[in-house]
Amino acid sequence: MTNIGFIGLGNMGFPMAQNLLKSEHNIIVYDIREENSKKLQNCGAKRGKNIVHIANNCDIIISMLPSTKDVKEIMLGKGKNGAIFANSKENSLIIDCSSIDVKASRELAAKAKQNNLSYIDAPVSGGVMGAKNACLTFMCGGEKNDFLRALPILKLMGKNIIHAGSAGSGQAAKICNNMLLAISMIGVSEAFNLADSLGLDRQKLFDIASNSSGQCWSLNTYCPVPGPVETAPSNNNYRPGFSAFMMLKDLLLSQNAADENNIITPLGRKAKNLYEDFVAGGNGETDFSAIIKYLRRLEN
Ligand code: NAD
Repeated sequence: MTNIGFIGLGNMGFPMAQNLLKSEHNIIVYDIREENSKKLQNCGAKRGKNIVHIANNCDIIISMLPSTKDVKEIMLGKGKNGAIFANSKENSLIIDCSSIDVKASRELAAKAKQNNLSYIDAPVSGGVMGAKNACLTFMCGGEKNDFLRALPILKLMGKNIIHAGSAGSGQAAKICNNMLLAISMIGVSEAFNLADSLGLDRQKLFDIASNSSGQCWSLNTYCPVPGPVETAPSNNNYRPGFSAFMMLKDLLLSQNAADENNIITPLGRKAKNLYEDFVAGGNGETDFSAIIKYLRRLEN
């Protein structure tokens, strides 16, 4: 039995920690919002007093936080709610599942090593439903031995667990995938908007393109017009799913990485700009596939 600390019990972290509770391990949880920790305590977890308490008492620590800044704060910050690195037991394993900046993630991995700690980045895809059903995909970066140590724990929360490479590779995989996803969603949306204006029936376009060279996940599984794919958010008034705000967050990370490395991503940059406008218009909480409605308005 291992003491596992879990920090960040939001939309994703809460159900992930619930799945860990089904194992034989001791789960100690912490969230700055006390009510989240209390709810999980009611499900059988122990409640950590603060971050330092988690660091002192756990052999494995998982974080699932909103941003790079939050992750840096708990790993390196000062006081009771920071400084995992300074307060963890030697050889503890830290698994950061948050989606954060690649460079920052690499720097954290290097600092962890200096503190005799193991560290992997393990961002996820699969959303809240994947977290609830323990079928997330984990994209992991770090040393192979550390990945293998994390594997049985990640298996309690996910189905596809892939070692993407050295430190930061999980974050790199996540932002490359999501940049591609945003671009393909915009492309599919443009195709449907053009079809509408040409008088082509949407279902006919779907039947043809989803079996032709235009097929992709954004079309076949997550079609942005209501009708063709029953389970898509477009059939549920564009309730997320994956929110436009989350997509924008990942596009900011991918564009930041592209700029830092002098990589030219004209479509990635355009996708970021479009989602920026879409979110600024008050649509952050809608599903990212609702960008089709925004693109339609641009036509007028
Ligand atoms: P969320 O905002 O619902 O949850 C984050 C939790 O962290 C909150 O409960 C918050 O109180 C807590 N928190 C913030 N700062 C803290 C600190 N310093 N110490 C302790 N707790 C703190 O976010 P989420 O939707 O669960 O997403 C978490 C991460 O997963 C993000 O990086 C996100 O990009 C990524 N992600 C989310 C989804 C999704 O569909 N929601 C999908 C894939 C990846």
